[in-house]
Amino acid sequence: MSEKKEMVKEMKERLFLKRKHGLYRMTKEQLNECDNFCEDYKKFMDSAKIEREAVIYTIDLLKKNGYVEYKKGMKLNPGDKIYRSNRGKAVLMAVIGTAPVADGIRLCAAHIDSPRLDLKQNPLYEDNEIALFKTHYYGGIKKYQWTTIPLALHGVVCRADGSKIAVSIGEDENDPVFCVTDLLPHLANSQMSKPMAKGISGEQLNILIGSRPFRDDEESGAVKLNIMNILFEKYNITESDFISSELEAVPAFKARDIGFDRSMIGAYGHDDKVCAYTALRATVDCKDPVHTVVTVLTDKEETGSDGNTGLCSSYLEYFIHDLAEDLGSDGRTVLSASECLSADVNAAFDPTYPEVNESNNCAYINRGVVITKYTGARGKSGTSDASAEFTGRIRRLMNSKNVIWQTGELGKVDEGGGGTVAAYIANLDVDTIDLGVPVLSMHAPYEVVSKIDTYMAYKAFMAFVED
Ligand code: MN
Ligand code: MN
Repeated sequence: MSEKKEMVKEMKERLFLKRKHGLYRMTKEQLNECDNFCEDYKKFMDSAKIEREAVIYTIDLLKKNGYVEYKKGMKLNPGDKIYRSNRGKAVLMAVIGTAPVADGIRLCAAHIDSPRLDLKQNPLYEDNEIALFKTHYYGGIKKYQWTTIPLALHGVVCRADGSKIAVSIGEDENDPVFCVTDLLPHLANSQMSKPMAKGISGEQLNILIGSRPFRDDEESGAVKLNIMNILFEKYNITESDFISSELEAVPAFKARDIGFDRSMIGAYGHDDKVCAYTALRATVDCKDPVHTVVTVLTDKEETGSDGNTGLCSSYLEYFIHDLAEDLGSDGRTVLSASECLSADVNAAFDPTYPEVNESNNCAYINRGVVITKYTGARGKSGTSDASAEFTGRIRRLMNSKNVIWQTGELGKVDEGGGGTVAAYIANLDVDTIDLGVPVLSMHAPYEVVSKIDTYMAYKAFMAFVED
């Protein structure tokens, strides 16, 4: 190489932003660790399809690691590990740091709800000797994607007498599954000429659940009766019990490796369980943190964070106030000194659909965890735009701990947009930035993430909570 060429190469190395595949920056041992970590993640995905199950899994893991249920007024000391469930649908956990709580907490926030089909309150009906459930979709879905795939049913039913039963059908190999039917192409001329958004309507997302009448009665409604009888025998519920139930139809797929090289994971609900799991593991694995660590796994993000289990409610604030007081400070002092990683996924560049992204500013799979300074739509509406100072601080932290990371903006300007819980936490006067895993086919029944990015999310939360 000529001297000039050498100089140009050196200048590029020194002056340009480097964006490359994470593999080039990982040792063999790290890659092994990464793949092992992802085996645990897949197990979590298979046992926590809905928010309630994610809470059960989380509390179980916390208890095994010495966490105790927090009661306001508890005497708290550095190293103590506590948790609080919010109605079984969201969960908060904390590790008390060695520094005074007034120095602020390290907060990680991820959500454990994912797009799905909820059963309506009066879901069961029979039409021409076919039994179906009416649904109301939850979160942002492309409706056509939810037809003709195996569905499982998860949730709870609160019976007339006040007792509650948990339901999970369709995950075990021997369980039946359910599905939404679609038209055969031969008779779909009219459907196929509609724009995609209108091809399948919300009221067509009816779930097929049965087709045999009760014994050999020829009464009308005998198929519905047969279903109700099965449900009564198995769960001791009657039709009116659906009124006080939360039953969620989710894809019956298991988490699987994707690709000949097994570099990716396909699963339902990576958004946002991939950040929930990695943040949870980092919280559990962190040793003697300086700052008090709080991690919240929340519900209702996909419908806008409203309701008492969503982050627009005061439950997170109350928890921090309680904690602050029990540690001899006050809530607002603690909040104002705190920092938050709003842990949510971002869109990954898809070579099949390059037109929606701006290539210099979108996230790519395998280039590490994505740091997103702002989300929102149009002129940055509905976002917390993290400050240059805080972005700089997180950037330095990630670099100092060798976390492989990249930046990512959700699509081209004016292409669409979206938001996370970052804005609600920043509104509490907390320095907040989005950090998460890039996802292919986000909000589809089967989403894809890279193992390297998943592992790097864990490393990023680890760096943050131990800082
Ligand atoms: Mn999300
Ligand atoms: Mn989402």
